[in-house]
Amino acid sequence: MSFKALDAVEALVPYAPGLSIAEIQEKYAIDRVIKLASNENPLGVPPLARESIARMAASAFRYPQGGNPRLVKALAEWHQLPPKRIVVGNGSDEIIDLMIRITCSPGKNSIVCNEPCFSLYPIQAQIHGVEARRCPLRKDFSFDFAGLLAQVDFSTRLVFLTTPDNPSGYCPPREHVEHFAHALGQCSPDCLLLIDEAYMDFAENEEADSLLIGGQIPPNVGFLRTFSKSFGLAGLRIGYGILPEHLAECFWRARLAFSVNILAEEAAIAALEDESFRQASMQAISSGRKQLAHGLEALGCCVWPSSANFLLFQLPPDAPGALDCFEYLLRKGVIIRALKSYNLPDYLRVSVGNPEENEIFLSNLGDYLAETRSAKA
Ligand SMILES: *Cc1c(COP(=O)(O)O)cnc(C)c1O
Repeated sequence: MSFKALDAVEALVPYAPGLSIAEIQEKYAIDRVIKLASNENPLGVPPLARESIARMAASAFRYPQGGNPRLVKALAEWHQLPPKRIVVGNGSDEIIDLMIRITCSPGKNSIVCNEPCFSLYPIQAQIHGVEARRCPLRKDFSFDFAGLLAQVDFSTRLVFLTTPDNPSGYCPPREHVEHFAHALGQCSPDCLLLIDEAYMDFAENEEADSLLIGGQIPPNVGFLRTFSKSFGLAGLRIGYGILPEHLAECFWRARLAFSVNILAEEAAIAALEDESFRQASMQAISSGRKQLAHGLEALGCCVWPSSANFLLFQLPPDAPGALDCFEYLLRKGVIIRALKSYNLPDYLRVSVGNPEENEIFLSNLGDYLAETRSAKA
C-alpha cells in the first residue's frame, strides 16, 4: 500500500518557523532563553485583551458567531471603511492561503511575488498547484517594480508585496506603490495587488507610507494586516484583510465558519481599544530599533535601514559565518533568525525586544565576535 499525497505536496519544502523557547531550553538545558526570532511584541499581551480573554473563558463552550461580525465592525470603524470590505482569518496566513485558493485555478493561474519574500506566498501557491513567479529584489532590497510587472500576464491573479518588507524592513515610497498599482490595473485588470502590511504600523510615518490610509484606495488593491505583531496576539492567530467588496464576499463563502475562535475575536476587539498599549509598543519598537542598530554598528555589522520591528544585518567580513553565529547565540539562549529559508545564508535577522533582551543579544554577539577573533589570532 502506498498512501501518496499530491505531487505538489510530496515535493514541498514546508514553511520554516522561528525556533521556540521550549525547544531551545530542552536542547541546550538552559533556563533563560530569549526569543528575538519571530517579530513578536516585546511588551507581551495588551492588558485589555488579557482581561477580555479571562472574561470570555467561561463562554468557550459556545461556537463563535459565524463571520465574526463584532470584530468586523470594530475593524471597519478603526479603518473608517465599509464592513463589507473587511475579512478576518486565523492569522493573515489563513487569508493568504484562501486568497490564492479563491482566485487561482490550479495549473492555470499564477501569482507574482518578490525573491526573496515571506515564504508563505509561494508555498501556499505550490500546495494548490499554482505557479509562483518570482522577481529578484534589487541589491539594496528595494523593489524592482518594472521587473514585477514584466512577470504579470493574462494568467496572473495576484501580486504580493510586503511593505515594510520581511526580512529587510524596506518600505517603498508611497508614490512608487501607487504608480505600480495603476500600471498593473492598466495591463491586467483581473489581477489584484495584495499588499501585506503586517509591519506597517511600525513605520515612522504610517500615514505617508500606507496606501490604506488617507486617500482613495486604488480599485485593484487589497491589504493584509495582523494582530500578531503590534497588537501582541501572535499566539491567538488572528489577522485581517481589506479587499474589494466582491472578493471579500467570496472570501466569506469559502472560509471555514469558525476559523477565528471567540477568545481571539474578543481579544482582538479589546486590543483595538487598548490605545495606551499601542502607544507604548510603538515607542518600544522605535527606541529598541535604534538601540539595536547602534549596537550592531558599533560591533562592525552592516545594518539595513528598517521600518519594521526587526533588523536585517550582516556580520563583519572577518567573522566565520552567519549560521555559525546563529548557532553560537542559540547555545547562549538567544534565538534570532538565520535566513537560509529566504535564500540569504549570509544574513541574520533580529526582532526588536525589550531593552534588556536587546542588550543581552548585543553582548552575546560581542562575545562571539571577540572569541572568534582571538581564536584566529
Ligand atoms: C508575521 C507576518 C505575517 C503575520 O502572519 P499571521 O498569520 O497574521 O501571524 C504576515 N505577513 C508577513 C510578511 C509576516 O512577516
